Amino acid sequence: MPRGRKTKIVATLGPASSSPENIKALFDAGVDVFRINMSHNTPELLKGVQARIRTLEDSVKRPIGILVDLQGPKIRLGELPGGSVDLKEGARIRLVREPRSDDPAALPIPHAEVFAALKQKHCLLIDDGKVRLRTWASKPDSAEAVVELGGVITDRKGVNLPDTLLPLSAMTDKDRRDLHAALDIGVDWVALSFVQRPDDVAELRKLVAGRAAVLAKIEKPKALEFLPDILELSDALMVARGDLGVELPIETVPGRQKEITRLARKMGKPVVVATQMLESMIESPSPTRAEVSDVATAVFDGADAVMLSAETATGKHPVEAVAMMNKIAAAAESDPLYQSLIDAARPPPEETTADAIMDAVHQVTHTIHARAIVTWTKTGSTGLRASRERPEAPIVALTPMIETARRLSIAWGLHCVLTEDAHDLDDVVERATEMARREGFAIPGERIVITAGVPLGTSGSTNLLRVAFVGGR
Ligand code: PGA
Ligand code: MN
Repeated sequence: MPRGRKTKIVATLGPASSSPENIKALFDAGVDVFRINMSHNTPELLKGVQARIRTLEDSVKRPIGILVDLQGPKIRLGELPGGSVDLKEGARIRLVREPRSDDPAALPIPHAEVFAALKQKHCLLIDDGKVRLRTWASKPDSAEAVVELGGVITDRKGVNLPDTLLPLSAMTDKDRRDLHAALDIGVDWVALSFVQRPDDVAELRKLVAGRAAVLAKIEKPKALEFLPDILELSDALMVARGDLGVELPIETVPGRQKEITRLARKMGKPVVVATQMLESMIESPSPTRAEVSDVATAVFDGADAVMLSAETATGKHPVEAVAMMNKIAAAAESDPLYQSLIDAARPPPEETTADAIMDAVHQVTHTIHARAIVTWTKTGSTGLRASRERPEAPIVALTPMIETARRLSIAWGLHCVLTEDAHDLDDVVERATEMARREGFAIPGERIVITAGVPLGTSGSTNLLRVAFVGGR
């Protein structure tokens, strides 16, 4: 039953990869959290996918996280003639303010803000910079450009405008509609794209009002200036390397990845490393050496989760990509160097009782080679404090709340189990040892470390550490 690894896997579902069979196969291969990208989905599609994931959750009896990724103020192309256009270097083309175009020499960009702000000699990067255009004339509804870097582009690909100051708010009308639908259906995480300021997250937080956890995608240079404040207002971060690598000099992204990962670990909030992790597996059944190394690096840095995008949403080998990620994470975690690398970046505990207990848990687990840590958590905050320690033993998080179990599925090392609150201290220990045994973490005679809060059932009161033997049955 346990996954046998601590780093979690987030996989993106696309309209073409969301059949019940495919979702099940991806889950079986190792997916902990499914991501639905609203750039490529409608509320109706989301509703169907959500229902299929919840049905699967019922049948496998494991909490599964659902992350809805709001498109944000991302500029995208409209619909192209026949779905794609081959742009040749040096060609002159027109940009038009239309939702679609029938003329291969006229690219549709359905955003008035772009044409309002576009000036001469501005650069447009399409599909993460695979194609580059430069304007030489602009009008309120159109612009003239030359292709500097050619290639094939397809419908609704992203457009980055690093030279253009776009007067955009954090959430578009579409985002608000998508958010409303997502919250109505009941999703676990809502991700916000192109966050620039702490206020962007605050705005989303207010609308979400506790009905889901909030993840800020770091993909704008501006966001890096306010990282601590953005993280303070967020429940998790994503290193969204796709857009980040377009908006920043690409060679500076690895350093920023380390910075974001380190800060999130320090604050005890989950961090997801995303985009192009196994990109070549969109086409090929096996990854490149460099991709394997990239996934392993995120794991060695202690990221909570690694993510697949097109690999699982539209790729030819979605299940193989998840299986490969699973193998890479498990291998990195069992490497002799892993624990020392993780410990070297371990942040000191904050001056709270919960952190002091978790610091002690880390130490006690190591000293007695405890098989598992079992922690009782209601809102999930104690679970996250345990995860922040990055201890050697797996962490079983017991919670009476399904919402907490689902949200924590993104966090490093947490194996969540739904169970009613304990009645008394004997019950705390009894149930913890029983769950460790039942979930396959320990056998009779082995020791586990338990944390809980007295008085029982009060959230945020973790103040107790107990070592217990797993009993026979
Ligand atoms: P996206 O976000 O897939 O929604 O663009 C991830 C990224 O930019 O890396
Ligand atoms: Mn992005």
